[in-house]
Amino acid sequence: MTDERRMIQQAARDFAMNEVLPLANKLDPEQGDIPMSLRDKLAEMGYFGIVIPEAYGGLGLGAFEYVLITEELARAWMSVASIIARGNGLGGGFTAEQRQEYLPRMARGEFLGAAALSEAEAGSDLANVSCKATRDGDGWMLNGSKMWCTFADGADFISVLARTKPPSDPHRRHEGISQFLVLKERDKFPPGLTGSPIRKIGYFGWKTWELHFDNFKLPADALLGREREGRGEGKGFYGAVSGLEVARVHTAARAIGLARGGLEDSLAYAQTRVQFGQPIGEFQAIRFKLAEMATEIEAARQLTYFVATEIDGRRRCDKEASMAKLFASEMSERVTSQAIQIHGGYGYTKDFPLERYWRDARLTKIFEGTSEIQLRIISDRLLPRVKK
Ligand SMILES: Cc1cc2nc3c(=O)[nH]c(=O)nc-3n(C[C@H](O)[C@H](O)[C@H](O)COP(=O)(O)OP(=O)(O)OC[C@H]3O[C@@H](n4cnc5c(N)ncnc54)[C@H](O)[C@@H]3O)c2cc1C
Repeated sequence: MTDERRMIQQAARDFAMNEVLPLANKLDPEQGDIPMSLRDKLAEMGYFGIVIPEAYGGLGLGAFEYVLITEELARAWMSVASIIARGNGLGGGFTAEQRQEYLPRMARGEFLGAAALSEAEAGSDLANVSCKATRDGDGWMLNGSKMWCTFADGADFISVLARTKPPSDPHRRHEGISQFLVLKERDKFPPGLTGSPIRKIGYFGWKTWELHFDNFKLPADALLGREREGRGEGKGFYGAVSGLEVARVHTAARAIGLARGGLEDSLAYAQTRVQFGQPIGEFQAIRFKLAEMATEIEAARQLTYFVATEIDGRRRCDKEASMAKLFASEMSERVTSQAIQIHGGYGYTKDFPLERYWRDARLTKIFEGTSEIQLRIISDRLLPRVKK
């Protein structure tokens, strides 16, 4: 850890604890949205452009700094640690012209995205998408439904995965899928796009939507990946799954931040809660739980730092990124659950933020590739499958 990184971490910690945590404690219980004033402050800190090159107005930092800041923000509110990923170069399929136009706005928090990849029948099996884009003059027409699109309402654009050709062979279903850039006005759905919010159990601060495209017209330049060989029409699946290492360490850092919340609150509680005439932190049962929680968090953090270093060094680390995501998210649910245990009955109330940490930690095992999918990736790298 360099001095510069420590300063970045400390600045993010101060910001998270002073600006984010009080809002999370107030808004999460009432399922309120992240306020625009906080989004503006995140933009001022440069957090929407951490990994965007300085030439485009970003901070020009790497995956390591991205995870440092993410952990701090997630310590306060996971949704805020998540919204920064809606800038930070989301939309790898931009042309040079689009990069010039959009990346500076993204770095300033003025052009934030939502990702409409998943569908009701296409989650882990993303190649099963059935939302269709057909040719319409020079442009395209989108028809079909998407599921789980977080921030579809507040975003300035939605990146949509749609089938442009039926698969030629059932073993090559990932071909014939394309990615499209749907530009939209903030807080509105354009004509031809409707949505309904999904009633989720956590991850409040923003809404997650089921979307329906009905003869939704798109211009020709909405097709993403056009300038990259092997990424244009029919190759959108590869674009959607590229950069997953960064997404996975980002999720690992979110999980670590949540677990840290559980540990820090438990350490404080263990010193003030008195039973049998002494603080519960004097009981070895509680002390050992705290020791195990801290150890698990540190193990996840060091693995995440390692993967971030590999990403920044441009070395292949898909297996390790899956390990970090798997270990950190499973750890986070265990640790936040232990934090509830240390708080006894009070841990099971809405008067303490522990239930938020736990609800949000639970999600980290599901999105950005479920734990089972991470295990599949890791085991496939350890033990290649026999070709059938
Ligand atoms: C709150 C929330 C927000 C989300 N936000 C977004 C978003 O913004 N954009 C977006 O595109 N998506 C988003 N998602 C979708 C998320 O990525 C998917 O839920 C996830 O990929 C799992 O897909 P699924 O829900 O269809 O589960 P399924 O794929 O149906 O999985 C069901 C179960 O089967 C297991 N399983 C599936 N396949 C295998 C296999 N091959 N081997 C072993 N086990 C397997 C899974 O691990 C899981 O336990 C969000 C989801 C949630 C809950």
